[in-house]
Amino acid sequence: MNVKEFLLTPNWAIRLSKLSYGPRKMIENNIVFQTPFLPQSATIQQRAWHIIHEINTVPVCEICDEFLKFQKTNKYSLYCSVKCSRKSPEVHKKKLQTEIAKCGGLDNFKTKKSKIFKEISQSLYGVDNISQAKNVKDKIKKKRG
Ligand SMILES: [Zn+2]
Repeated sequence: MNVKEFLLTPNWAIRLSKLSYGPRKMIENNIVFQTPFLPQSATIQQRAWHIIHEINTVPVCEICDEFLKFQKTNKYSLYCSVKCSRKSPEVHKKKLQTEIAKCGGLDNFKTKKSKIFKEISQSLYGVDNISQAKNVKDKIKKKRG
């Protein structure tokens, strides 16, 4: 059985830990041998991820190109930091999708949004649409002379 096949079996980490020293070392060494691009501190889980996904480089942050850290959940996050994840269009999209779902659909969302815009516009300029506000300002200017 090759190492990748072994790593694709469920609970391989538990099964590996239960092996006797000889076979366990053999598999561990094989895993390390196949992932020389990782730092020595890399865990077996991290190395296994690379072997399973056949990725021979450490993934980098989509936003700033920093190397990513391997998570306790046994995968890489998409971004190096919370700061970068906030800059991601994906996260914005997800937030928007959540908001739309909360409103009960895109149409409701649009209605709700336009209502909010109207309210803001009304409270600031006394018009339904902020684009009308310029006219309002001009009128005010004219009145004041
Ligand atoms: Zn980053």
